[in-house]
Amino acid sequence: MGSTGSIGTSTLEVVRSLGDQFRIVGLAANRRWRELAAQCAACHPAAVAIADAANADALRPLLNSSTELLAGPEGLVELARREDSDFVVAAIVGAAGLASTIAAVQAGKNVGLANKEALVVAGSILVPLARRTGARLLPIDSEHSAIFQAISAGRRSEVHKVYLTASGGPFRTWTAEQMAQATLADALRHPTWNMGPKITIDSATMMNKALEIIEACWLFDLKPDSVEVLIHPESIIHSMVEFCDGSVVAQLGVPDMKTPIQYALTHPDRAAGCARRLDFSTIRRLNFEPPDLERFPALRLGYEVARAGGTAGAVFNAANEQAIEAFRAGQIPFGRIVQLTEHVLAGHHVKPQPTLEQLLAADAWARQEVCACLRD
Ligand code: NAD
Ligand code: MG
Repeated sequence: MGSTGSIGTSTLEVVRSLGDQFRIVGLAANRRWRELAAQCAACHPAAVAIADAANADALRPLLNSSTELLAGPEGLVELARREDSDFVVAAIVGAAGLASTIAAVQAGKNVGLANKEALVVAGSILVPLARRTGARLLPIDSEHSAIFQAISAGRRSEVHKVYLTASGGPFRTWTAEQMAQATLADALRHPTWNMGPKITIDSATMMNKALEIIEACWLFDLKPDSVEVLIHPESIIHSMVEFCDGSVVAQLGVPDMKTPIQYALTHPDRAAGCARRLDFSTIRRLNFEPPDLERFPALRLGYEVARAGGTAGAVFNAANEQAIEAFRAGQIPFGRIVQLTEHVLAGHHVKPQPTLEQLLAADAWARQEVCACLRD
């Protein structure tokens, strides 16, 4: 799901490098039909889904006659639950990935989860559903893959806290005044990771780390206060778990998503990796600093939303997505992204234990609120 994106294309590279251990049975993307057609020519999937149905006619003649074409958002849901697959990589960006992720979990498939927004919006639905169907949620997000690997060094009851590391993004050393006027090009210049545009902007506001606090709470059943964000500009330590005896277990590697993608695919086994390896002869130091909650208020919001639960995650995520759209369209300055998200969140009455319908309604409401603020 999201095969044409940054995680999607890295996943295809990993699968290729693993030889005949995996077979691609389905591919799905939003609009980029040319890339999707090229991927189909290389992987020969049984089915392909394109979310933006307007592009289905362009894609059809480029497909092999044995490849089934599914169109529209419901086509992605159908693809996610197909019987011929047993592993789904959820790599669509944003809440748009929720429906297919739910479908895969409902069908009892193991899900390699890159689409953190699905958990932020609907962790309260996905986590219990996975428990019921026996589906496993295997983290692809590098920090969560690190926690997943480190946490198995002890029992859950022995975990004292989790250190969620963050590069600090392109504006780590900028003043609030400089940041307020940062351009789109500035925000897209990430110092260590090469990723899709939305998550790159989220890294610049540190909204990405806020989403990851919530993601960690759902994946590992943690209280928000036991997740500590630590700035680590080199992005070599991907996160750490501190146990009750004071031992801290970390996972290290080059900043390359192919490593966590592969671990999700091969878990509980490991296979020879296709990413570069760490070379300690060139690493002289690893740096750490506490996050600055004044310059990066998104982090404070992340903790507040994690504590609030209910519909708060859906509103937080949707407002941020909509504000990013406005920033990318040149409608608001960089500094307004988090301000708008906070404003919309403050106007929301959190509903506890929401249904999926209530979560989707909260998402839609938050997007409308951002649009209304833009008109004012
Ligand atoms: P991207 O923008 O590069 O790719 C997004 C993919 O989603 C594309 O294939 C696109 O076609 C598809 N898509 C977008 N909107 C869609 C819609 N409405 N319906 C169906 N498909 C749609 O994004 P990315 O950087 O690969 O990120 C994907 C997810 O992985 C995000 O949730 C992100 O937070 C997470 N993630 C990414 C990285 C990374 O290194 N890129 C790291 C950790 C987590
Ligand atoms: Mg991450």
